[in-house]
Amino acid sequence: MEGSNRLPESAPPATVAGLAVDVRGVSKRYAAVLALAHVSFTVPSGQIVGLLGPNGAGKSTMMKSILGLVRPDSGQVLVFGQDVQTDAVATKRLVGYVPESPSLYEFLTGAEYLDFVADMYGLSRAERSERIGHFLGGLELAGHENSLISTYSQGMRQKVALIAALVHRPRLLVLDEPLNGLDPRAARVTKDLLRNLADAEGVGILFSTHVLEIAQAICDRVVILNHGEVVASGTIAALRERAGLAGSGLEELFLSLTGTGDLHDVVAALAH
Ligand code: ADP
Repeated sequence: MEGSNRLPESAPPATVAGLAVDVRGVSKRYAAVLALAHVSFTVPSGQIVGLLGPNGAGKSTMMKSILGLVRPDSGQVLVFGQDVQTDAVATKRLVGYVPESPSLYEFLTGAEYLDFVADMYGLSRAERSERIGHFLGGLELAGHENSLISTYSQGMRQKVALIAALVHRPRLLVLDEPLNGLDPRAARVTKDLLRNLADAEGVGILFSTHVLEIAQAICDRVVILNHGEVVASGTIAALRERAGLAGSGLEELFLSLTGTGDLHDVVAALAH
């Protein structure tokens, strides 16, 4: 390791390499609202896990608990075996996060902003230009990096936020509705990039979405929250099986699990 307080950028501690996230019986109450009710699930390294549920289900509260931004009333969140509440600094090094509406510096160019983020993580010149160049190319932003962020579309901003979350080679990526506001092509390249990070680099990825079609297209597993409880989890195939029919029953399953029409359209898409 270098002399500074930087963590090694390679693998997380070997003993815990298998689980990027281990949520153990987490509960969180806001006054009268039980936002999370004894939630347990895992995100294995190299897998993409979708956190699904209607508005108010507890998705954001869960993600913030994983990031150490919300303290659970009970239960524990381990990131690569480390408790996010007691090992906050160590776990932050291992995590990349893209909020639903990332705030970027409008008066910087994309390249300047990413350079600034790379500075915060202490990346060397060579490393940052290799890493940033790789993602600019992969997300089809190359050629736009020297324009001001204020001129970017929402999709371009999302991509820059994603690259900013990836520069320090996180082993876990937490994304809040990452494909919102992306046109189909941008959604496609983002999906491919996430898949590649999971497959080739073994990154564990957790992302929230209310779009079941997206979950189906990209996730290895889904965790469905409703009123703060995990009402189902597993592979899409297993959930289809549970629904009893090859596809057509899934809509009813989700609707019965969540008791809401919020997922209606997207679940309908799964039936085709
Ligand atoms: P989701 O992301 O699935 O929409 P949230 O985690 O944002 O769900 O919210 C879960 C529940 O907790 C909701 O009823 C919400 O109103 C409530 N909640 C979330 N954050 C707070 C807060 N800071 N104070 C009070 N209630 C909150």
